[in-house]
Amino acid sequence: MVVVMRGGASETDIDKVVNAITEVGGDAFVSRGKHQTIIGLVGDLTQFTELPLHAFPGVEDVIRVSKPYKLVSNDAHPRPSTVWVGDAAIGRDTVTLIAGPCAVETEEQTQAACRMAKEAGATILRGGAYKPRTSPYAFQGLGEPGLDLLHATSRQLGMPFVTEVVTPADVETVAAKADMLQVGARNMQNFQLLKEVGMAGRPVLLKRGLTATIDEWIMAAEYIAQTGNLQIVLCERGIRTYEPMTRNTLDVSAVPVAQSLSHLPVVIDPSHSGGKRELVLPLTRAAIAVGADGIIVDVHPRPETALVDGPQALVKEDIVLLRETVARFAEAAGRSVARIDQERSTGAWGRSAAGV
Ligand code: PEP
Ligand code: MN
Repeated sequence: MVVVMRGGASETDIDKVVNAITEVGGDAFVSRGKHQTIIGLVGDLTQFTELPLHAFPGVEDVIRVSKPYKLVSNDAHPRPSTVWVGDAAIGRDTVTLIAGPCAVETEEQTQAACRMAKEAGATILRGGAYKPRTSPYAFQGLGEPGLDLLHATSRQLGMPFVTEVVTPADVETVAAKADMLQVGARNMQNFQLLKEVGMAGRPVLLKRGLTATIDEWIMAAEYIAQTGNLQIVLCERGIRTYEPMTRNTLDVSAVPVAQSLSHLPVVIDPSHSGGKRELVLPLTRAAIAVGADGIIVDVHPRPETALVDGPQALVKEDIVLLRETVARFAEAAGRSVARIDQERSTGAWGRSAAGV
C-alpha cells in the first residue's frame, strides 16, 4: 500500500501517518519528492485495513499496490516525475542531453570533451573518475583528482555533472562534489551501494545491469527510493545477448515498458550499447523516437588516445550532427530539447555541491 500526501502536507501530517502504521506493527518508508511525499507501507495488508488513513490530515490518496515495487511504481505517483540535476531537468516533457568523456584522463582532455558536450547542447556533463573495469590491469580512473578536474570544469562551464561511484566507501567523497551520482551496470544489484547512494541526498542515475530484467532494474531503484530519495533516473545501456556485432544489444522496448511501470524518467546510453562511434547517432534517433527522456553520450577530443572506450566516443565532427539529431527527433516526438531553466537558475546549485 502507498499513502500519497498532498503537496502542502506538513511534517506533522507525515509523522501522524508513519506513527499510525508503526503502531499497528507495519513499516513505513517515506520518500520525499520535489512536490509530493509518498509513504510506502510494508507489512501484512490486514494490519492497515482498520486504519482510516484517507481521513488523516494531509493525505491525498491511499493506493493498494500489487506490483512488487511501491515507491517508484506508477501507482504511487499520479504523474511522471521530473528529476532536477542542478538547474537541469530530466522528465517527460523534454529530451535532455548528457554528454562528456567516458573517463576523466587529463585536464586538457576533460575540458575539451566538456566543451564539446556544451556545444552539442548538453545541459548535464558526464565523466568517470572512478571506473569499474573488467580487467584489474586496465586504467581504473584518476579517483579524487579526477573528480576535482570534473568539478572545476563543470563550474567553469556552468553545467552540473554526473559521475559514477563504485563503492559505498566513496559515496560521501563523490556526493560532496558531484551533482548526480551514477550507479553503473555492474553495480546495479550492489544493494549496499544503492542504499548509501540513496542516502547521499543527490539525484541518482541508475544504469540497467548487463543481464538484468526490467523488473530487477526497477526493484534496484526501489532500494534507492526506500531511503527517501525519489530523484532517480533509469538508464538503459544495452544488455548482453548472443550478438557480438555490437558491444551490447540496445533494448529500446525497455523505455516504454519501464515508463508504463514507473514514474521515473528513463534515458538511453547509445554509446555503451552500440560500442561503436558510427552506431551512436542511429541509436540516438531510435532512443528519442521510442520516447526516452534523455540521452547520455561519450565524447572525446582524440579518441585514438583514449584510455577507456575510445571506439564509441563521438568526435568534434559529430557534434553539430548530434545537436541537430536531438533537436529534430525531439520535435518529431512532440518534445522540446531540455535547456537550462533561466528563471529557476540562480547559480546556487553550483555553490551547494562541495560548498564552493
Ligand atoms: C559509464 O557510463 O562509463 C559506464 C561504465 O557505463 P556502464 O555501467 O553502463 O557500463
Ligand atoms: Mn565507458
